[in-house]
Amino acid sequence: MSIELRGHHLLCMLTYKGLGYSDAFCRNYDAIIARLNQGEAIALIRGPDQICQPLVRDEDGDCAHCHHRRIHRRDALAMQAVSEALGIEVTVGQTLRLTPSSLTTLRQAFTQGQLRSGCFDCEWHSLCTDIAARGYADTRLHHSNE
Ligand code: SF4
Repeated sequence: MSIELRGHHLLCMLTYKGLGYSDAFCRNYDAIIARLNQGEAIALIRGPDQICQPLVRDEDGDCAHCHHRRIHRRDALAMQAVSEALGIEVTVGQTLRLTPSSLTTLRQAFTQGQLRSGCFDCEWHSLCTDIAARGYADTRLHHSNE
């Protein structure tokens, strides 16, 4: 089994601390983070993913936010930045497994701004900057081997 994620959610998972668009969105997100914490692999996909599902369901499968061109652009920029940070190609169709070391690398890169191109035009930008500045305190993603 693997968890399907779109590119920019590789960044969002780093700062997730239980905040989101709705209770259903956060419950679903919590379940995904729990699976990631158990070491489940990530399958990179194009467009709305498992984190998006509650929003997509609310909009009868046609969520304008999740399908918007600027969100696809965010995915592409995020995958490019994550590729550079990890030194491997991260693209749609690939599978990625987080390790304690890769999680640390990604969080350091995020804090230093190297991944933030993927946060382009995001309403949560200042919140995530603050979470990173506070050392990711109270965030929910912790690899099981940590
Ligand atoms: S600023 Fe937006 S895109 Fe970037 S990590 Fe936070 S929620 Fe995700």
